[in-house]
Amino acid sequence: MTIGILKETQKGETRVAISPNIAKQLIEKDFKVIVEEDAGTTSSFKDSDYSKVGAQIEKRGVVFKDSDLLLKINPFDQEDLKLVDKRHILMSQLFHKSNPELMKAIAATGATAFSLDAMPRISRAQDMDVLSSQSNLAGYKAVIRGAYEMTKIFPLMMTAAGTITPARVLVYGVGVAGLQAIATAKRLGAIVEATDIRPETKEQTESLGAKFIEVEGNGDEEASVYAKVASEEYMKKQKEAVNKSLFQADLVITTAMVPGRKSPVLITKEQVGQMKNGAVIIDLAAAQGGNCALSKMNKIVVKNGVKIIGTTISPESVSTNASELFGKNMYNFIMHLTENAAFKWDLEEEITDATLIIQNGTIRKNGVTT
Ligand code: NAD
Repeated sequence: MTIGILKETQKGETRVAISPNIAKQLIEKDFKVIVEEDAGTTSSFKDSDYSKVGAQIEKRGVVFKDSDLLLKINPFDQEDLKLVDKRHILMSQLFHKSNPELMKAIAATGATAFSLDAMPRISRAQDMDVLSSQSNLAGYKAVIRGAYEMTKIFPLMMTAAGTITPARVLVYGVGVAGLQAIATAKRLGAIVEATDIRPETKEQTESLGAKFIEVEGNGDEEASVYAKVASEEYMKKQKEAVNKSLFQADLVITTAMVPGRKSPVLITKEQVGQMKNGAVIIDLAAAQGGNCALSKMNKIVVKNGVKIIGTTISPESVSTNASELFGKNMYNFIMHLTENAAFKWDLEEEITDATLIIQNGTIRKNGVTT
């Protein structure tokens, strides 16, 4: 089977789906790998890095023409689809639930399409989960961005000129990004506190040396694995429990999301009004509406001396590592779906069933569109 790695065309995207190291591993498993010219340049991978491991470098049209399986990070777009036909198997994030028109357009080509973001969140799919591998980097980068925007340093520093007290960091949402934010802020020497609706995150927070802020009602909210929408009562209690820490914080990182929903507003305008002058909020939930009422996506809003930065902190900003991890997830997924470099098509199997959105031009039941 021939695998084609396409250069990403989405504005601002600097990652590539497969790094040279992963291309090598695919070739060792008897796949032929074709890489579009310059596909890895913005992730610091040269064409020669791919050719050295045995991949073929080609122009875009040739990659489409000669590949059976086409790999991308972002959804295949209308320009791509002009070159797609029923021979092709597409693999990328498709965000199929919010892209019904795109699903119809892909189906119209007769092709087959897998979506990486439809990966079930079960233990054995963990090493194929691109949302987790990329969120982890976002959590790290949120702290680094915060450090850059703050007018204070993180660690305790005793100098001849006086003692600098450590920065106080508060993290809302102890999921993949939140855990990495806690770990990174701790490593830099901050005093870190965190809160989450899921009670199991207490132990995870404490294992990183941070303090968990308990909210009365944690665990009563049916938030066993992934958070459901919190009740108004819980949100009120959360504010009471967290306010003291919020008003002392130098950096607040918010990551609280509810899959498929608008993000909960955890910090109101009034709360911002009571925060410290010079405090920074990095709102990683901004794309889904934001955890701070004042957040604006890709903007810095300054209110009462508090800097509110709405961002997804795209993993593009660490494109080399992000591509390496994305590629490893893709490799594991391809290994899962194939045997002797050919697809197994085991549609009864949970991971295949969940991620196969379009099969031979037909949108499957999990592909949503009606
Ligand atoms: P996410 O991005 O959907 O949400 C981030 C965090 O925000 C979650 O921990 C959630 O509980 C929290 N949150 C939501 N509403 C809140 C509120 N009102 N107040 C406070 N916190 C709120 O979640 P995620 O990071 O993608 O995943 C969460 C967890 O799921 C991970 O920590 C991990 O343990 C698990 N997970 C498992 C797999 C797997 O097994 N394959 C894959 C990914 C994640």
